[in-house]
Amino acid sequence: MILLKDILLLYTGTEEIAGADLLIQGNTIAEIGKGIDPKKFGSRGPTGTCNAPASGPPAGPDEPVEVIDCKNLVVLPGFVNTHHHFYQTLQRCLRDIQDAPLFSWLKRLYEVWKRLDDDSVYWSTLVACGELLKTGCTTSTDNLYVFPRGRSSNFMDVEIEAAAWIGMRFHPTRGSMSRGQKDGGLPPDEVVQTEDEILEDSERLIARYHNPEPGAMVRIALAPCSPFSVSEKILEATADLARKTGVLLHTHLAETEDETAYCIEHYGVRPLQLMERCGWAGRDVWFAHGIHFTDDELKRLAGSATGISHCATSNMRLGSGRARVPEMLSLGIRVGLGVDGSASNDSSDMLAELRNCFLLQRLAGGSKAINAREVIDLATRGGADLLAREDVGLLRPGMAADVIGIDVCDIAHAGAAHDYLASLVLCGESHVVDFTIVNGRTVVRHGELVTVDEDEIVCNANRAAARMVAD
Ligand SMILES: [Zn+2]
Repeated sequence: MILLKDILLLYTGTEEIAGADLLIQGNTIAEIGKGIDPKKFGSRGPTGTCNAPASGPPAGPDEPVEVIDCKNLVVLPGFVNTHHHFYQTLQRCLRDIQDAPLFSWLKRLYEVWKRLDDDSVYWSTLVACGELLKTGCTTSTDNLYVFPRGRSSNFMDVEIEAAAWIGMRFHPTRGSMSRGQKDGGLPPDEVVQTEDEILEDSERLIARYHNPEPGAMVRIALAPCSPFSVSEKILEATADLARKTGVLLHTHLAETEDETAYCIEHYGVRPLQLMERCGWAGRDVWFAHGIHFTDDELKRLAGSATGISHCATSNMRLGSGRARVPEMLSLGIRVGLGVDGSASNDSSDMLAELRNCFLLQRLAGGSKAINAREVIDLATRGGADLLAREDVGLLRPGMAADVIGIDVCDIAHAGAAHDYLASLVLCGESHVVDFTIVNGRTVVRHGELVTVDEDEIVCNANRAAARMVAD
């Protein structure tokens, strides 16, 4: 059991409570209230109803209680990251494309990504998950879509193993590229796969790893990369497979004007219309970016309950534009946040993503565009909704024990006691949290990763990165 005691401010997702305790039993939240006595919860307890696979610490009558003093901490649900490319942590800050727009940036990177292998996938996953966990993320997706010809086809298995080891709740999306340059696509032919290879591996991964049960630590989604790197046929076949197997669908959409021009030239329609005619609309679909939608397209997204992952940092970094999040929210469009790949961020800093969302939307839309609490809700409940998780994103008895604590009694938050919750978005010179608990397991304690050796990860990631970008 873990008892979070005397919490300075607890935000459950619906309520702000001062001076409460929160008790975690096994991998679920058992109780929230003042002065909780853990002895009353000697067995699994009346409220730990989530029948999740018990990969957290075991519960029992003699279970020891770890008490975390939270009198300096704001405690809230862990953040949900809805878009990333973990392998790109090895291509941060590449000098020759720091000023390139998306299409020429991608063409240079495809040459580097031809060298992706099991080793680089493994270490880059630990870099991404390590930084995400340290900055408050407890559930993350990853979109891995580069499978160079003649190399291992087990990249997904490797990243699932690495994410489990470090302790991330993980929604890997099986990415794909089937439209190489010889067929009019953007990527070189050496990094695309045949449609049969993509579908076969997608089916294998769903059968092996996808867990639809509450409390699941791994769920697979399917994610052909973008309209300029896959065929219509694979979009349709992927949607059919996802619906047959009950998994979600994800892709990049409406990221740049170049993409819109490409779709009109090659398909005769704008990006959203292409996706709609391939069956890609509905509550089981979420798109990354969603910048260049017309008013009518926003209404269609709202009507079909299709979701958007807003990636403010990446969009600013590549100069791609701004998703109209306030308009989306007023139309009822489902929105979550995503850090996007580290070649276009160049970090996996989740708390920074909240701040950048807030600032970007304010810059474009004025002081009423969005507020700090709305941004926190997008990063928690909003992300959980995009990933169809009813067991994360809120703190209440029976929910999965994905909880973070952030120290606000430091110099960066001094003078912010008027509103500690908003200070998480508005203040802070460091985005490293005090603790992160995922599925009842402490993975960050006092700002340090506890399940892995951080120095070893940094050293191996730098080695793998140097090998990939070497001429
Ligand atoms: Zn992306």
